[in-house]
Amino acid sequence: MKKDNVELICSISELANLFKGKSNIQGFLSKVTATVADHMNCDSCSVFIHDDTADELILEATEGLNKKFTGKLRLKPGEGLTGMAFKEERIIIEKEATSNPLFRQIEGFGEEAYKSFLAIPILSGLSKIGVLVLEHSEQDFFNSNDLMAMKAIASQLATTLENVKLLISVNENTVIEKDKITGTLHIKGISTDSGITTGKAFLMGDSQSTVFLTAEEIDYGKKLEDFELSLSRTVHQVEDLQKQMEMEHSDVASMIFSTHLLMLNDFNFSGEMHNQIIVGSSPVDAIISIVNKYISIFSESENPRMQEKVQDIKDLGHRLLRNLSTEVHEEGNYSGQIVVARELLPSELIKITAQEAEGLILFGGGATAHITILAKSLGVPVVFTDDRRIFDIVENSPLIIDANEGHIFINPDKGTERKYKRHSAGLKISPEEIAGIRSRTRTKDGQAVKLLANINLLSDLKNAALFKAEGVGLYRSEFPFIIRNNFPSEQEQYQIYKKLIDQSPGDEVTLRTLDIGGDKILSYMRDIEEENPFLGLRAIRFLLKNKRIFRTQLKAMLRAGAGRKLRIMFPLVSSLDDLLMAKEVVEQCLEKLKKAKIKHNSTPDIGVMIELPSAVLVIEEICREADFISIGTNDLVQYLIGVDRSNDHVAWLYTARHPSVLRALKIIADGARETDCDISVCGNIAGDEQLIKILIGLGIRKFSMNPVRIPLIQNVVESIDTGEAEKTVETLLKFGLVKEVKEYFEKYK
Ligand code: PEP
Ligand code: MG
Repeated sequence: MKKDNVELICSISELANLFKGKSNIQGFLSKVTATVADHMNCDSCSVFIHDDTADELILEATEGLNKKFTGKLRLKPGEGLTGMAFKEERIIIEKEATSNPLFRQIEGFGEEAYKSFLAIPILSGLSKIGVLVLEHSEQDFFNSNDLMAMKAIASQLATTLENVKLLISVNENTVIEKDKITGTLHIKGISTDSGITTGKAFLMGDSQSTVFLTAEEIDYGKKLEDFELSLSRTVHQVEDLQKQMEMEHSDVASMIFSTHLLMLNDFNFSGEMHNQIIVGSSPVDAIISIVNKYISIFSESENPRMQEKVQDIKDLGHRLLRNLSTEVHEEGNYSGQIVVARELLPSELIKITAQEAEGLILFGGGATAHITILAKSLGVPVVFTDDRRIFDIVENSPLIIDANEGHIFINPDKGTERKYKRHSAGLKISPEEIAGIRSRTRTKDGQAVKLLANINLLSDLKNAALFKAEGVGLYRSEFPFIIRNNFPSEQEQYQIYKKLIDQSPGDEVTLRTLDIGGDKILSYMRDIEEENPFLGLRAIRFLLKNKRIFRTQLKAMLRAGAGRKLRIMFPLVSSLDDLLMAKEVVEQCLEKLKKAKIKHNSTPDIGVMIELPSAVLVIEEICREADFISIGTNDLVQYLIGVDRSNDHVAWLYTARHPSVLRALKIIADGARETDCDISVCGNIAGDEQLIKILIGLGIRKFSMNPVRIPLIQNVVESIDTGEAEKTVETLLKFGLVKEVKEYFEKYK
């Protein structure tokens, strides 16, 4: 029979118009499959659309195969010939489909009647939309003309099908229950080197969502007195949490549970629950209806600060219900649970950790993202992943997360459980090991090396002392700013910095001025919308533009450093000009404090973080103007390679084992030596047991790191001979390929 490809192409474009009319999505897709099958004289035509959330291809329409499978048949990318066409984005054409080992027989679908097979992936730009499949009962039915025609059709249909896909996903999210993970599953995530833990899954809807609170299948108290008891228990618990947070994290947690407490005492919230119970509602229904009302008011608010409170309301509802339960009197906290969330604000992370969450699985993110840095300081293991299957985890499923290697185990088998039990037991550092840490570190050939601590929260000081840090090489001052609802006052900052300086081990404390921007967003400054925040108003740029905030911070630092040695460091300096401008502001502050006769440090050392390629290229000029420099390799790698440090999609490109990074480090180290400028490294590579040798080989002798890394790095440093390290550097600097550098380190692991 004659095939009518040209006419077919015209009909398809007409179909796109028909879609605008009364046709619904399925009606439209049925027309597509019927028309293609008809014009191609095929026995069957089917269209599969990819569901991004489940990462599955779903049969959305078919002509010639069992229509009962529509909406039900789901294939993973790579599964069967259709899945493979999608996964590899290539056309698959078969004379006899069953002879291809990838062919998958689906019972009852009706494909056994067909021989020839043609699958065309539908792509729209870089988006993968789905697959169009044609089949025929004759062997070797499709010729090169058919192929050309089908390619043209697939490309014509792509945009319309992309819209179809979006509409389907909207509908599906509201009506269809996704397949949940019931069996054992391993998901590879990104390691953040923050420990190993086990727990039950707690799925946290994202803060902006309107997922409403529902009751669990447990017995709840039914009387007004039960509600009153639940309310007073909840108030006490939250007050205790607040007190505990103030003791442990006074720098960041002041009034962190204030929304909880205000709501609990609010007539419109708890009072309204009370009223509903009086007029006949059960306490459970009253709690749920008022909590849900507030969730919807807050999540629909235009104000992002209000939206942020949704999680607080959910938390509160959860606690009130737990405390109403007649069976269990669990506190309603996250103890024994691993929180799975799309996204967490730093303040939410603090609250969850305060409520004893065992660990976190977060979507997206990265090892040097600031939420990771904070999680490490809070001592909670966190694994990031861009695998959406984490959203299919069943609530309360047993989980193991290995945040050192980046593994997530869902419903782990016995063997994995045993392995991790051993592992986590072995991870804790023993008192003997702690006692064995030396207070001074020297290389094998006797050169002194200083190991300092990076401090994010004041609570990190405990570890700094425990692991015998010789001082603080980097205090990231931004966390009190990120977690509060407003800029902390000069007095508040003064108290934080004073505590830090007073409690620091050793004689060296380096305070870094505010580094916000990039992935460190202040919720109260969301009006700054940037296309590329990492290239935007970040760190010293923000401070130079907002001099009032800069001066407030500098004055607080200078006052806190009175009578002590004080080092102040500027982040993300891009030129000598930046440094000179920043120094001028310091001078102004010194002048003001002197005039006002306020006690302060009048001779602080001024330092620069070397994090930008532009700073590397004027390193000598910077070193002559600065008292010290510190290399921030987390950012330097990002800006040198042009790879976002918190973007999982390009995480494989983010590496310090790169010839350009090594050469940049050499330029910096040489520049500091030439100008006799104090130099240190405070990026993550300072705690890298392989790269420390390279840094020593480059002549650097001062390193600041997460204090828990100190014992390991101390042992490594003591095994390094500086002459040998210099030779290793010489070898490495000759490499031009990333591969060569990586292979070198693999070999000498
Ligand atoms: C760095 O960039 O290496 C660094 C230490 O700063 P932060 O990680 O805070 O950006
Ligand atoms: Mg940095």
